[in-house]
Amino acid sequence: MLKTKYVIIGNGAAGISAADAISKTDKGVEILILTEENVPHYYRPKLIDFISGEADFKSFVFYDQDWYKDRNIKVIYNEKVIKINPEEKIIISENDNRYIYEKLLIASGGYAFVPPFFSEIKPLTVRSKSDADKVIEQSKENTNWCIIGGGLLGLELSNSLQKTGGNVSIVEVADYPLPRQLDNDGGDFLKSKIKSLGINLYTGVKLQEIKGRKVLLSDGSEIPFDEIIFCTGIRPNIEILSDTGIEIDKAVKINDYLETNIQDIFAAGDCSIHNGKMYGLWMPALEQGRLAGFNMAGKKTLYPGSNPVYKLKVVGVDVVTVGKIDTAIQVKSANKLAGVYRKAFIENENLVGFILYGDISGENELKKNLNKDFSQSEEYFDTKESSMSNGDTYVCDICGYIYDPAKGDSDSGVAPGTAFKDLPDGWNCPVCGAPVAQFSKE
Ligand code: FE
Repeated sequence: MLKTKYVIIGNGAAGISAADAISKTDKGVEILILTEENVPHYYRPKLIDFISGEADFKSFVFYDQDWYKDRNIKVIYNEKVIKINPEEKIIISENDNRYIYEKLLIASGGYAFVPPFFSEIKPLTVRSKSDADKVIEQSKENTNWCIIGGGLLGLELSNSLQKTGGNVSIVEVADYPLPRQLDNDGGDFLKSKIKSLGINLYTGVKLQEIKGRKVLLSDGSEIPFDEIIFCTGIRPNIEILSDTGIEIDKAVKINDYLETNIQDIFAAGDCSIHNGKMYGLWMPALEQGRLAGFNMAGKKTLYPGSNPVYKLKVVGVDVVTVGKIDTAIQVKSANKLAGVYRKAFIENENLVGFILYGDISGENELKKNLNKDFSQSEEYFDTKESSMSNGDTYVCDICGYIYDPAKGDSDSGVAPGTAFKDLPDGWNCPVCGAPVAQFSKE
């Protein structure tokens, strides 16, 4: 039986950032990560480029053995947790190993949801490295792909599969793709863009039945396929918690300190729900993990919630959606130019969200202006050529994170005003972990 002060279940964004935060706060103490995957932590969003053949797996694994050693983090792979006993503070794994913890973080993430349907075909999903391996294996033989779900993942995947030489159809139940990120007008823009790429896009239709190697849609159309992939969202991995007394509301309920209702058990990332919100995104998982780590190590830190940022790049059009785009009371400004669509969402005179389509300039300034008076942001929605001071900012080629010297990187102790060239040795991209060599000047 292994006894460790800090145990983390899950090696994704939330798990790794929590471990890092604990190591910075409670220095020298051993941290244990249990993961069911058999590969080290990787930047998950890059799986899309792995599938297309544009990135090999190693190119998005950034933390080497030294990184873990320096932080006294031990990872046990292929270790699926099947039971937690909060009274005795014991975790039991499928391999029948037992671990005793003082503080536990549940960062078990999510799994790809597949709605029930009738078919003898086992559909593919894309969530983990091993899922991606299966898709790559099939892409060597198959050319006709049907993707169910026209959200972020479905669209990016369609583009990746096209690059492997495949013929791709997408089925989206909403009237336009990216229904969570775009409104109707923006959706129409994207619709014609996707069609112009030669991707067969079916919107406003439901999957009725899968018959042999054919998908039957609610409007009567049929799509023949070799392989079908479901991109219909993720659900939290919470089945191991059923008899623990941990409060669940679709996901693990956490308070503003990332605590569950049970003492010394925290949760973060895709398995958690905070203030009724499940983000299912890399950045919020990273933020939650980091703050959970601080709180676990005794540094009380409040989590105010995240501003979800969705970015889509691969279909050749930049789309950025930030903050609230559905509940804002007023829509104050829309500016349509050829292929460019920008909209601000305002509540109580404040900018609370925005959509930038085709031209995403001003993105960082607008993010800074979020929840501030809209008058400061107005210029970005008036003309295409708004004045923007970029300074010497550098962008991460892997994940798109932008290092802004004016801001620095407070989580890593980099003070505002620190030029990119003056970043300390060993500094990594705070989002994906890439080293400075992976950055280029904006
Ligand atoms: Fe990065």
